[in-house]
Amino acid sequence: MKRRQFVTTTAAGAVAATAAGALPGPAIAQGKRRWRMVTTWPRNFPGLGTGANYLARLITEASEGRLEVEVYGAGELVPAFEAMDAVGSGTAEMGHGAPYYWKGKVRATEFIAVLPFGLNAQELNAWFYHGGGQELADEAYAQMNCKFFPAGNSGVQMAGWFNREINSLEDLKGLKMRIPGLGGEVMKAAGAVVVNLPGGEIMPALQSGSIDATEWVGPYNDLAFGFYKVAKYYYYPGWHEPGTCIDCFINLDAWNDLPKDLQAVVEGACRAANVAMLSEFTAANEDSLEVLVKKHGVVVKPLPDDVLTRLGELAGQVLDGIAAEDALARKVLDSILDFRRKALAWNELSELAFARARLLPFPYARG
Ligand code: CA
Repeated sequence: MKRRQFVTTTAAGAVAATAAGALPGPAIAQGKRRWRMVTTWPRNFPGLGTGANYLARLITEASEGRLEVEVYGAGELVPAFEAMDAVGSGTAEMGHGAPYYWKGKVRATEFIAVLPFGLNAQELNAWFYHGGGQELADEAYAQMNCKFFPAGNSGVQMAGWFNREINSLEDLKGLKMRIPGLGGEVMKAAGAVVVNLPGGEIMPALQSGSIDATEWVGPYNDLAFGFYKVAKYYYYPGWHEPGTCIDCFINLDAWNDLPKDLQAVVEGACRAANVAMLSEFTAANEDSLEVLVKKHGVVVKPLPDDVLTRLGELAGQVLDGIAAEDALARKVLDSILDFRRKALAWNELSELAFARARLLPFPYARG
């Protein structure tokens, strides 16, 4: 019934378009649409670029080619950080990136991406799908003429690579660290000298001593970069990025122009891609951690509790400061913090308690 309805609607639409003299462009031929997906990642970048490829393939195949999505790596159609402008203006129909890249346009996107000491991946998805997050994100993205979907997640990241030990708050003072975003603002407030460098410039900076530390993602991506060759200690946990959202953004006109069934294909594909990326990061992080520790002898250390506590205090101040300047950011932050309050209580009794129980010293606990 759906299919028949679609055929009828499409035929009627085509007739109407022709009658109005507004012939559909080459992007819509015989009911087929072709969308360009611009990304902020190099083509095929592990986890992120491959996640974009997966999403595009899923939409194309699930729609039986009625909506064909073609992926462009960063710089192929537009530079990485112009992806949102390209999609908002209709140069491309779809994009794949991370919400915090758009904070210069809509401040609230920074909170949608991830909060220091905020929600983990599962909780963030729960907020999007069942806690009002989708609606708030749509409100934010509509200001950029886009529809939003969560389409991936890195999972909990690592605190980063350090060339000196962090034993107390004093050790953060004057520490030169590459750490972007909200985490960087918190580290700055803690007395660190914060720099932002693109991925390719991190290795030489660590090697020459122009920085003492860097964060990147987690074992999977960090192993690929080879940071273990130039930094001594690998610290956890990634308090600054406990589960970073990867976004899919769609030109609002292109989205509204889709028939309902193709909208459902896109939404479903984004949900699938969201889970697929988190699963890939999880599996690859597990494998890569083993390689880092067993093969490369990396020293893995936890940040001390008093350091984390201070970073948490400062994070609260940084978030409040941003929210005070922007009404939508305030609304988003309040929603996430309300969700977080309940998540903390449930997590303590569920994931946290279970993770502890699983580590108790019974015979097959650690293998
Ligand atoms: Ca990171």
